[in-house]
Order: sequence, then C-alpha cells, then structure tokens
Amino acid sequence: MNWITNFVRPTINSLFSRREVPENLWTKCPECGTMLFHRELADNLNVCTNCDHHLAFSPRKRFEALFDNGVFTEIKVPEPIADPLHFKDQKRYPDRLKAAQKATGEKEAMLVAEGEMNRTPIVAAAQDFAFMGGSMSMYVGNAIIAGAERAVKLKRPFVIFTAAGGARMQEGILALMQMPRTTIAVEMLKEARLPYIVVLTHPTTGGVTASYAMLGDVHLAEPNALIGFAGARVIEQTIREKLPEGFQRSEYLLDHGMIDRVTHRKALKDELTRIIRMMMGLPPAVKADLPAPDKVPAAETEPKSGNPEKSGKKDG
Ligand SMILES: [Zn+2]
Repeated sequence: MNWITNFVRPTINSLFSRREVPENLWTKCPECGTMLFHRELADNLNVCTNCDHHLAFSPRKRFEALFDNGVFTEIKVPEPIADPLHFKDQKRYPDRLKAAQKATGEKEAMLVAEGEMNRTPIVAAAQDFAFMGGSMSMYVGNAIIAGAERAVKLKRPFVIFTAAGGARMQEGILALMQMPRTTIAVEMLKEARLPYIVVLTHPTTGGVTASYAMLGDVHLAEPNALIGFAGARVIEQTIREKLPEGFQRSEYLLDHGMIDRVTHRKALKDELTRIIRMMMGLPPAVKADLPAPDKVPAAETEPKSGNPEKSGKKDG
C-alpha cells in the first residue's frame, strides 16, 4: 500500500498537473501565428523567429540583454504620494496598482538602471507596457528625473526605451504634470551636454510622445512600432480623410523625418554604443574579449612583459 500512496499516486498526479504547463511554454506570434517556444523566443530577444515581429519585451529582460553580461544596478526612485485623488472606477486605484505589480513582478511602469553597454557606461530607463499600459504616472516622472540626475552626476548619457498608452488617468492632472517635469529633466541633460537618446518601442502614444519621447538628441525606433499622439481613428474622424497605409508606424515616421533610424532589436545594443561613443567623443568600442591572462601561452607573454618576476615583486 505504501508503494501506491508514496510513488504511484504522486506520479499520476504529476502527470495530470503537467498538462497546464505547455500553455506557458509557447507564445503565439500575433503577426504570423507561429507558435514560439519560450526559450527560443527569449534567446531571440522576444522577436519572432519566423516573421521578425517584435513582441513585447519587459524592461528587466531588455536590460539583461542591453548591459554587458546582463549586469546592471537599479537606481532608486523617490516614492510619490499614493492615490492622491482617491480614484475609483470599477476598481480602486490602489487595487489596480497591486494587480499590475502582481502580474509584472515590478513596482511601477518604469525601471531605471546604470551599467555598461559594450563597456560604455550609461544610465538607462525602460517603460513597461504590461504595467497599466506603461502609463505615465508620478512615479514614472520621478524615475525619469532620478535617471537624468544620476546621468548628470556620473556624466553619462541617458538612454530611454519608451512604451506607453499615455498619462495615467487615475492620477489626473498630477500625471499630466509629468510632461513639463520630464521636459525639465531632459533640459538638465542638455545643459550638462550629455546625449539623451530615445528608443521608441511599440506602442508609444499620448502624453509620452508629447513630452520626453520626442525630445531626444537621436530617436531610434524598433521596426513596425506604433508611435503617435492621437489614435488613428480620432484623426480620421477629425480630418475626414482616409489615412495612408503604415500611418504612425516606425518606417512611415522615418520616411517623413520624424525619427532618425529604425533598428532591429538585435542590432540596438551596437547601434546605441556607436551613436553614444561618437557623441561622447570616445574611440570605437572594443568588441572582442581580451584573452584571460592564464590562457595566453607563456611564449607570447614573456618577450612583451620583459621580466615577469620583477613586476610580480613590485606588486607584492
Ligand atoms: Zn511571427
């Protein structure tokens, strides 16, 4: 009997519970419908391996891909007042926040960090569309200011990845006030003569497009990202005209001079490094890793370093 309760039953149970897992292991590409295995998708930076469609990418995963060896330090963001308007629709605002925090595992809609990208020190911020539509809240404003202040202090460029549906309704005018606040944060960078680079990702709309997302020294965009202020339907109804194909998409905006470049997600890191190093007057990045000291054959090191014993004694 013990054998049945201790071994057979758990095995049967585990067989049945395993049924739920495959749903999370596969993601369907919204563009071409291909089922993508989670590991393959993650290795490809959340870009569809079949049609190159750029799926959503969380700030944390983005930073892991952006910074050398995935190492970065988060920058602390000052806490704003919680729910100042006591806003309530179908749900209370604090409950919505809690649900978003639980779903994303993040505190708020923006992550700020410092680290090195191809050995180029930068400060970066990324907006999380999965967190209440990436909406611009007081916290997001504080995050941008904290990032800009840190960049000025360390004399580093500031790179921001935007993704937003606009201002956070639940914070009303206080969310809208983040437009002038973040504009001043960008001004601080310009006064310090530090590059401010914006990478527009799908979708960047509303008040975010009307403030810090369009104030960069250089604007890059991921392919086929929706970027605009008002929605296409609203514009169509207002001007009573059919909008052209590809309207408000990265490639269209590039053709019309709104942005500087459309860059594939996999090429972003190198592209950003190149632009930043040029703007900062730095030599091109060293791409290849130098061989580790113990791996260099003895014959190669001896003639160059002269007398290794002597230098060894000096260090000691
Ligand atoms: Zn696809």
